[in-house]
Amino acid sequence: MGGNLFVLTQQHSIANHFLSELRDAAGQKDRMRFRRNMERLGEIMAYEISRKLSYEDRTVTTPLGQVTVPLLTENPVLITILRAGLPFHAGFMNIFDSADSGFIGAYRNEETRSITINIDYVSLPSLQGKPVILIDPMLATGRSVLDAQKLLVAKGTPSHVYIVSVVAAPEGIKLLTEQLSIPYSLWTCAVDEKLNSSFYIVPGLGDAGDLSFGTKE
Ligand code: URA
Repeated sequence: MGGNLFVLTQQHSIANHFLSELRDAAGQKDRMRFRRNMERLGEIMAYEISRKLSYEDRTVTTPLGQVTVPLLTENPVLITILRAGLPFHAGFMNIFDSADSGFIGAYRNEETRSITINIDYVSLPSLQGKPVILIDPMLATGRSVLDAQKLLVAKGTPSHVYIVSVVAAPEGIKLLTEQLSIPYSLWTCAVDEKLNSSFYIVPGLGDAGDLSFGTKE
């Protein structure tokens, strides 16, 4: 997907510290720090994406005069795939502080060898003509994003979809390149090596939902 792929840690920045703490198996025991690092990366990615949005000049009145500043013409809509996306989503909300949010509850059915994603909860605002940030912290097979696409287009045609992840697998990137039919770009903190036989990203960081919120029954 060439120019449509942004990889945050390709450049030296403090984001590398946050991501390496997320990955570190010993450090992951601190659940609050894990969530906070997810949130911090969300804040940084929100800033990066903000540079691509539309702005118009507005006049701001200070106590001493007036100044013209370019401000966002509209906020992006923030849509998160539950539950792993929640701390990452919080980072985006800290930056786009009056944006609308939407949620898609997805879970993996790991019994079959070909993984299926079940979507069981959807709450989405109108997306017609709006920039959308689709937040999926672990882009593994890409199936959840592909399934989410059907739900998004039922809510209108977004002007652009910014898909954001913390770690992406080449398999997921390939699926999106081949099968996603909406205008999108992919923004990830890192691209890793591959998926393992359980569809986890290697080296990845493990199960982002469990590390944030505890293991499910
Ligand atoms: N979801 C996760 O939480 N981790 C992975 O490696 C893949 C999907």
